[in-house]
Amino acid sequence: MNNIEQTLSIVKPDAVERNLEGKIKEMFLNNGFKIVQEKKIQIEKHEAEKFYKVHEIKPFYNDLCAYLSSGPIVVMILEKENAIVANRELMGSTNPKDAAEGTIRKKFGISIDKNSVHGSDSVENAKIEIDFFFKS
Ligand code: UDP
Ligand code: MG
Repeated sequence: MNNIEQTLSIVKPDAVERNLEGKIKEMFLNNGFKIVQEKKIQIEKHEAEKFYKVHEIKPFYNDLCAYLSSGPIVVMILEKENAIVANRELMGSTNPKDAAEGTIRKKFGISIDKNSVHGSDSVENAKIEIDFFFKS
């Protein structure tokens, strides 16, 4: 049965800064994702804190929010059959060192914090994250 889903993707500041936006989008398209909406923006630290609220108690939370708001990002709604899991697979492990060959983070990630992309991790969070950036 068809299970077309939408998920939120972010090309993070380290990747935008290195002009990798086009190459990363090409990987999404080559893997059958449709880019339904996209925009390049820069967010304030307090917005990053809201976006990453689930990580509030983690030791890396402050640096993570400072980082996500440190430069332009590209936010996209991706659509595909089982898009949420498919995007997590294409992204690869959080730490680029552990990411499989052919994944975005293996190819472009610099470190566990500068790992080039974000992707929603569940149906529930995909809805929340898409609304966060695209709710009209
Ligand atoms: N992160 C970090 N240090 C860590 C773990 C995570 O800086 O030890 C950052 C990293 O950029 C990651 C983000 O926090 O992408 C969110 O962490 P999560 O565990 O949700 O990883 P993801 O879902 O992005 O793979
Ligand atoms: Mg996550």
